[in-house]
Amino acid sequence: MKNPFQNAMAQLDKVARIKNFDAHFIESLRKPNNDIRVSIPVKMDDDSTKTFEGYRVEYNNILGPYKGGIRYHPDTEINEVKALAFWMTLKCAVVGIPMGGGKGGITVDPKTLSKIELERLSRGWVKGFANILGPHKDVPAPDVNTNGEIMAWMVDEFEKISGDKSGATFTGKPIDKGGSEGRTEATGMGGFYVFETLRKELGLKNKCKIVVQGFGNVGSNAARIFRENGHIVVAVSDSHGAIFKEDGLDLEKVEAHKKNTGSLKNFTGAKNITNEELLEIPSDLLVPAAFENVITDANANKIQARVILELANGPITPEADEILFKRNIPVIPDILANSGGVTVSYFEWAQNLKKEHWTKEEVLNKLKKIMEESAIKTLQKSKEYKTSIRMGAFILALERIQKKS
Ligand code: NAD
Repeated sequence: MKNPFQNAMAQLDKVARIKNFDAHFIESLRKPNNDIRVSIPVKMDDDSTKTFEGYRVEYNNILGPYKGGIRYHPDTEINEVKALAFWMTLKCAVVGIPMGGGKGGITVDPKTLSKIELERLSRGWVKGFANILGPHKDVPAPDVNTNGEIMAWMVDEFEKISGDKSGATFTGKPIDKGGSEGRTEATGMGGFYVFETLRKELGLKNKCKIVVQGFGNVGSNAARIFRENGHIVVAVSDSHGAIFKEDGLDLEKVEAHKKNTGSLKNFTGAKNITNEELLEIPSDLLVPAAFENVITDANANKIQARVILELANGPITPEADEILFKRNIPVIPDILANSGGVTVSYFEWAQNLKKEHWTKEEVLNKLKKIMEESAIKTLQKSKEYKTSIRMGAFILALERIQKKS
C-alpha cells in the first residue's frame, strides 16, 4: 500500500489530467514550503529521559497563515503529516477561508504516558517549534489524540516563550481559555450540513441508515448529530471492534457503555462485529471517521453503502476511489466533508484577534452558510468537468489558490 503522501500526489496528478492547470503551479504543490523535524527530550516519571520525534509541515501559505492540527500516534511519520498538510491547504481553499495548510505530529502512543509526561511532551513540541509559530505565521489545532487540554498547555508554553498573549496561535482551546463555542462538534456538524445540502441530489431520503467508523471526537459527534436530525445510526466502531443494531443504536447509552467499559463491544441488544465487517454493511451512508487507507482496492468492491461521507482524512486510496466511482457510489471527499473543523478554528482565531466571543448560534449559523455554499460550488465543479465530487473539490480549491499565487 502507498503512503498517504503518495496517495495525495496521485490525486494531484489526476486533477491535472482533468483540468489544464499551469504546469508550474501544479509542480509548486508537490513539495511543502517547510518540513521540519525536531527531537523532543522528555523527563519521564521514573527519572529517565526519553526522546520523541516531532514534526511540523508548513505546506503552503498563499491563502494565509499555515493552519493545521497536531496528531499524536505511534504510526505518525513524516509522509502522513505531509499528506495531511497538503489536504489542509486544499481544505481551507474549498471553504474559502484565509488560511494556508500545515500539520504537525509526534510519533508516540499517548496511552503509554502519564498525564504529566503528556504535558511535558506537549510543551516540548512547542519549545521545538516556537520560532515558526504565531497568529500570523502558523496556527496549530487538535487532531487525533490531542484535545483542548493539550492546546491549553501549548498556549501557555508559547506565551512564556514568545510573550504573545492573544491566544490566537492555537485553536481548539477550552472555552475558558479563549476557545470558540461549537469547536468540539464543528467537524461532525460541518459534515452533516454538507450531507444535507447534497442529500437529495445523491438520491437519498430524509431518514437514512448510517454506519460510522471511528467513535472519537469526530465520529461520536457526527453520529449524535445525524441521530438528532432523524437519521438512524445502525453501527459504530472504535479501535477495539464494532457493534451493529439493525433498528438503530441508542447513542447516549453507547457513549455511557464506552465510558464504563473502555470499549464499544458487548453493548446490550447489539451484535459484536469486526471492523472489516462494519465497512461492508448495506447502508445509505458510510462515514469513515478514523484513519487513512481503510477503503482500498482490497475491499472497495465489497462496500454496500449508497454514499460515503469522508470525515476522516484520506480514508479511501486513489485505487479504491476509482472502483467506487465506477460502481456509482458517490464519495463526499474529506477536503469538503470535514472542513467544518478548520472553519470553526478560523472563527476561533478571528474571535481571539478581535477580542470577541460569539454565541454558539452565531458560530453554527456562519458554519452552515459556508458549508452549504462550499458543497454547492463543489458539486457544480464536478458537474462542469463531468468528474467525481472529490475532483470537483480539488478544482475549486486549486482555482482559488492559483488566483492568489
Ligand atoms: P480521535 O482520536 O478522537 O478518534 C479516532 C477514533 O478512531 C477513535 O475512536 C479510535 O478508537 C478509532 N479507531 C482507530 N482505529 C480504528 C479502526 N481500525 N477501526 C475503527 N475505529 C478506529 O480523532 P478525531 O479527532 O475524531 O479524528 C478522526 C479523523 O478525523 C482523523 O482522520 C482526523 O484527521 C480527522 N479530522 C479531525 C478533525 C477534528 O476536528 N478533530 C477535523 C478534521 C478531520
